Amino acid sequence: MAKRDYYEILGVERGASEAELKKAYRRLAMKYHPDRNPDDKDAEEKFKEANEAYEVLSDAAKRSAYDQYGHAGVDPQMGGGGGAGFGGANFSDIFGDVFSDFFGGARGGSRGGAQRGSDLRYTLELDLEEAVRGTTVTIRVPTLVGCKTCDGSGAKKGTSPVTCTTCGGIGQVRMQQGFFSVQQTCPRCHGSGKMITDPCGSCHGQGRVEESKTLSVKVPPGVDTGDRIRLSGEGEAGTHGGPAGDLYVVVNVREHAIFQRDGKHLYCEVPISFADAALGGELEVPTLDGRVKLKIPEGTQTGKLFRLRGKGVAPVRGGAAGDLMCRVAVETPVNLNKRQRELLDEFRKSLQGDDSHSPKASGWFEGVKRFFGDV
Ligand SMILES: [Zn+2]
Ligand SMILES: [Zn+2]
Repeated sequence: MAKRDYYEILGVERGASEAELKKAYRRLAMKYHPDRNPDDKDAEEKFKEANEAYEVLSDAAKRSAYDQYGHAGVDPQMGGGGGAGFGGANFSDIFGDVFSDFFGGARGGSRGGAQRGSDLRYTLELDLEEAVRGTTVTIRVPTLVGCKTCDGSGAKKGTSPVTCTTCGGIGQVRMQQGFFSVQQTCPRCHGSGKMITDPCGSCHGQGRVEESKTLSVKVPPGVDTGDRIRLSGEGEAGTHGGPAGDLYVVVNVREHAIFQRDGKHLYCEVPISFADAALGGELEVPTLDGRVKLKIPEGTQTGKLFRLRGKGVAPVRGGAAGDLMCRVAVETPVNLNKRQRELLDEFRKSLQGDDSHSPKASGWFEGVKRFFGDV
């Protein structure tokens, strides 16, 4: 059979660059690769032809010999240097070299298919008091655990998995993905190289069963929303002998009726009467450890923050406890009786013409006057 011209086979010009040759070869190799054209003699011939053409033209010495003498210059059968031939055994090697350029050599993957189980995430709702003081809670987590009936093998008792017929036990197959042919985990055995002919009734051959497990979680004092507690090995069971994943318990602290938390500090609002604010007095304020007394000086304005040192939260990562900030809110009295009205009216009259009792108002009215230019 007369051999076709190598340049013609690859569909390139005689002066084609190395890159052009490679590109052309890659295109043909993917098109005619035996894995993608099973039992197609014509494709196999074309694949061999392209391989041969590329093997010669990609080698500078062979290419120049070919350019000068044609097939006679390079044909292995003519004694032109020990060509390896292009038997089936070499297909994947040649193909692999081209692909390693593309995919950074990252072919293959986890042969044997032992895979670590997935990590799981569990959101743990806590009250502020529980988060601050620490607690131990019992949680129920749905997860995949190793099947006890088959010891995780997935095969019925007394049987064992056999070599996968799809991948021949390699765990990888070539798949067409758009333009490319890539190596992927075998869909039949999921990379294990083994398949189960007689599946275990309990896990249907999965080797893992869904189960709700009960765990005791120790929550250290001082945790806050977003903190994670890792329970090593309590995630999903691995497959084919792989280790289990971890369980992450993620804390979410519920809103509190009285306290707002900002890191290690707590805030609360304390209403006081305007008489207490004016005359001073003692207030009872809440803390996480019970009520404490708070002295209010006379002339306290609404919005003033009082700091109770150390009455906040001791941080979970160590360090001094934060503070409790009490913001006082002066309350306007309502539902006054006649006598109370009279007293307040008298009080109002006593203030008239003297703004020294209203530190904010005097400054404010000055500001308004300046704003309107009617000083
Ligand atoms: Zn397989
Ligand atoms: Zn089983």
